Amino acid sequence: MLDAVVVGAGPNGLTAAVELARRGFSVALFEAKETVGGGARTEELTLPGFRHDPCSAAHPLGINSPAFRALPLERYGLEWLHAELPMAHPFPDGRAAVLARSVAETAASFGPRDAGTYRRLVEPFLPKWDTLARDFMSLPLTALPRDPVTLARFGLVGLPPSSLLLRRFRDERARTLFAGLVAHVMAPLSGFATGAIGMVFALAAHARGWPVARGGSQAISDALAAYLKDLGGVIHTDYQVKRLDDLPPARSYIFDTSPTALARIAGFGDYYRDYRYGPGVFKIDYALDGPVPWTAPQARRAGTVQIGADSAEIGTALRAASREGRAPDRPFMITVQPSVVDPSRAPEGKQVFWAYAHVPNGWTGDLTEVMERQLERFAPGFRDRVLARATAGPAELAARNANYVGGDIGTGAVSGLQILLRPKLSLFPYGTPHPAVFICSSATPPGPGVHGMSGHNAAKAVWRRLRQS
Ligand SMILES: Cc1cc2nc3c(=O)[nH]c(=O)nc-3n(C[C@H](O)[C@H](O)[C@H](O)COP(=O)(O)OP(=O)(O)OC[C@H]3O[C@@H](n4cnc5c(N)ncnc54)[C@H](O)[C@@H]3O)c2cc1C
Repeated sequence: MLDAVVVGAGPNGLTAAVELARRGFSVALFEAKETVGGGARTEELTLPGFRHDPCSAAHPLGINSPAFRALPLERYGLEWLHAELPMAHPFPDGRAAVLARSVAETAASFGPRDAGTYRRLVEPFLPKWDTLARDFMSLPLTALPRDPVTLARFGLVGLPPSSLLLRRFRDERARTLFAGLVAHVMAPLSGFATGAIGMVFALAAHARGWPVARGGSQAISDALAAYLKDLGGVIHTDYQVKRLDDLPPARSYIFDTSPTALARIAGFGDYYRDYRYGPGVFKIDYALDGPVPWTAPQARRAGTVQIGADSAEIGTALRAASREGRAPDRPFMITVQPSVVDPSRAPEGKQVFWAYAHVPNGWTGDLTEVMERQLERFAPGFRDRVLARATAGPAELAARNANYVGGDIGTGAVSGLQILLRPKLSLFPYGTPHPAVFICSSATPPGPGVHGMSGHNAAKAVWRRLRQS
């Protein structure tokens, strides 16, 4: 009888397995695909020698994750690479706002009218960031915060809609960059607690940056998997779990799956009936003949580049995908250029480039033309650099990973109360109707991203239970 069986080898499933194995429990992990990684993979999607990240590429949450930081992942090959600037947000006039490692450089890029406002917004939290990150990313209702005062202060800033926070800024540069940060999770800017999302991404940049992993995001998954094997854990790939009976006898089962899949596999009926999925994404991976010809020089030095002319355009794009059921005409896009710091991703002189935009859940169209027209506004001549592209809309993303229901890369809408209370209103979000079955995917707090914290939190609940029984 195993102590724990984990289903799904995404960052959360791998982290849950590692956390249990390093505490001496016997663990086996079952993954549907041929390789481990889930949303943290790397593949030659276009041409030989071009190594793309089909899912995650930039890792502000990974490098700042209390769970990852406590694991010896560097010993297993993980190396974070930092571009000169974590992120740049270019404007059609050729200027740019930047999210730099330094607060002063960031504030200066917003112009004199907003520099002080930005400093006053982020500086109080920075000295306490590690404790705040742990409190914010840990069990939301059952763990006692280590620093309740700072968490409460953060709540005052973060719980109101980000649209209120944007009003603190007087110029469009700061507003646009900040609206883009919020848009990383696809919530409408007027949504509850969306201010916190923008703040977390900004603070993460100042604390430790927004790196990429050398060789690709697969390096994160491979490091977790190698550590797990060293600890005695066993990994079975190419093994899609359809029923609990497919799994060996164990004292606990931990699912890195969508709540819908878990309910189907474990026979939980409509237990997760009220769980909502959010908009999907349209993703393009490019093989380029050289660097992206950004007009703004800052964008050429950044790992991540946000695309959206102003906060109104970003708001319109988010509403189109999340509320109006249509693809945006001028999409907000997140782009990552790993080749700026990692030459191992492409043949000499060539580059890989990564971009996605939001579309309605289950959308079936092709956004390539619209996305490239949008890119050309900020990088004229971009199309001439394209050697090959691999596109994936909601259906392809869902086929690649069952957790991305309808192309929702967050495995559940990050809006309304579901931002904090997921997968359902419960004091114990990682538990299920069966006492030996747990859920650890990004459908649980703290939500989407490659950080392993859902896996860490769920594993904590599991090891407490295993020690009791
Ligand atoms: C296009 C895209 C861009 C992204 N960009 C970023 C980014 O830059 N930075 C960032 O931090 N995050 C990003 N994300 C989000 C991030 O990838 C996810 O939030 C993260 O991977 C979630 O981890 P997880 O372990 O919960 O689930 P996943 O990584 O989705 O892993 C779930 C695993 O479970 C397996 N599985 C599911 N059902 C079964 C079953 N029945 N039997 C066996 N195995 C099963 C799946 O095959 C998969 O391997 C992006 C995602 C996508 C798709």
